[in-house]
Amino acid sequence: MILGVLVGIIFTTFEAGPKIISHWVKPFGTIFINALKLIAMPLILGSLIKGVSDLKDISKLSKMGGRTIGIYIITTIVAVMIGLVMVNAIKPGTSISEETRQDLITAYQSDAEKKQAIAKQQKDAGPLQALVDLVPDNIFKATTENGNMLQVIFFALFFGVGLILIPAEKSKPVKDFFDGFNEVILRLIDLIMLVAPYGVFALLAALIVESPSLDLFRALGMYAMTLVIGLVVMGIFYLLLVKLFVKLKPKKFIEGIAPAQLLAFSTSSSAATLPVTMERVEEHLGVDEEVASFVLPIGATINMDGTSLYQAVAAVFIAQAFGMDLGAGTQLTIVMTATLASIGAAAVPGAGMVMLVIVLAQAGIPEAGLALIFAIDRPLDMCRTVINITGDASVSLLVAKSTGKLSKHSKGK
Ligand code: ASP
Repeated sequence: MILGVLVGIIFTTFEAGPKIISHWVKPFGTIFINALKLIAMPLILGSLIKGVSDLKDISKLSKMGGRTIGIYIITTIVAVMIGLVMVNAIKPGTSISEETRQDLITAYQSDAEKKQAIAKQQKDAGPLQALVDLVPDNIFKATTENGNMLQVIFFALFFGVGLILIPAEKSKPVKDFFDGFNEVILRLIDLIMLVAPYGVFALLAALIVESPSLDLFRALGMYAMTLVIGLVVMGIFYLLLVKLFVKLKPKKFIEGIAPAQLLAFSTSSSAATLPVTMERVEEHLGVDEEVASFVLPIGATINMDGTSLYQAVAAVFIAQAFGMDLGAGTQLTIVMTATLASIGAAAVPGAGMVMLVIVLAQAGIPEAGLALIFAIDRPLDMCRTVINITGDASVSLLVAKSTGKLSKHSKGK
């Protein structure tokens, strides 16, 4: 990562530099991300079907499901609250001068409009659309699009339930197939991770040469700082949770999850990081596969604490920048909409910003304010994605502990 940043900086200093990076280095980063995404669908299918079919009866599934969703929602609400407290205490938006505001708005207007258009489509769809979208009308079609992760999860769970309900001698060959399939996928992840350092190097070098002018970043420093402090507080909150309820030392937890965090930081995508999050949690933190394969894929798509915290901070920041004073009622609306919007956000780079439009609209904050934060969104996306996957990992530990599926001695590697 550090080498990538350094090389990126060096190559921005001469004219041909950025082009060289884009043409000769970036493609390797793209290949690395593609390889990870390639593995995501088969991983979810294989591991979830195996995971569910290993559960001996349905009541276990509903117990685990209830707990998982419950803890996910609670941590998301906590994250939004932390964000609101931070942004109200630090008030980063009030430091923006009228001139900077105008500059930023003109510079990023068209990008912001694109995000608004996508968000509008989602909003026009009606309240139950998310539920409708959960059930695919064709499983083969669903698996051809990485954005359909929840549909594939739905199918895998449904299929797994079917497997539990048929006689053991009938289900055995199917289960054996998915067991083997799952092993193959896990081995592929090992292979992809061998090239991770090179992929991460390429991604960061490309990011540096493609980022907009540093001047704009400065104006947004306060906002970024507020958000990062909020994310750190959230991180500490997880460490405490894990220490209190799982009796796992913070150091051990961080050591176990760090490679997944680094990858989340480099890819800005919880979905792309999922294979590694699963591997770390199972092999290094001792979470049973049954739990990890259920809790983590769902978490990657619906539990985004970093994103919800970001939406709270960004919304209030924009309001502050426009000189608006948000009352307690409006801030309460933000708690609700940011929780829902983070659930709805896809686990890909920039998704949190699309859904931010909905939070802004609901709270009556000018959507043009998106342009204010555009320049700095990518680095912050990298940070919030780290918290997103750390949250998922923590919850998998909590669920594993509460269902007796945590081995005392993780295998380690
Ligand atoms: N990039 C984030 C993720 O994949 C989503 C976001 O944009 O906040 O977790």
